[in-house]
Amino acid sequence: MMCIYCDKQVKEGGINRFKAHLAGQKGQVEACKKVPADVQYQMKQLLEQFEKNKKRKVQEKSDESNTFEIDEDPIIHSLFLLCSLWIILDETTYK
Ligand SMILES: [Zn+2]
Repeated sequence: MMCIYCDKQVKEGGINRFKAHLAGQKGQVEACKKVPADVQYQMKQLLEQFEKNKKRKVQEKSDESNTFEIDEDPIIHSLFLLCSLWIILDETTYK
């Protein structure tokens, strides 16, 4: 997968690493230097939401009285994909 902004190749980790690259998340991958601020902000928001969701799920699981559980991960994941798709569409529309 190649970054649409800086042409950097993000080979391993697929879409998740690509999102970390766009969000400028430190650790896994080098942050994108050319990503527009609004896209970077959106990616950060999505990643934070994803992390919160994971933590909440762990808490729910440790509470034995709470048997009601909705797996929201697929929804969040499709949000990520939609966002990535939107970025790609946006990029191709204005070029
Ligand atoms: Zn990039």
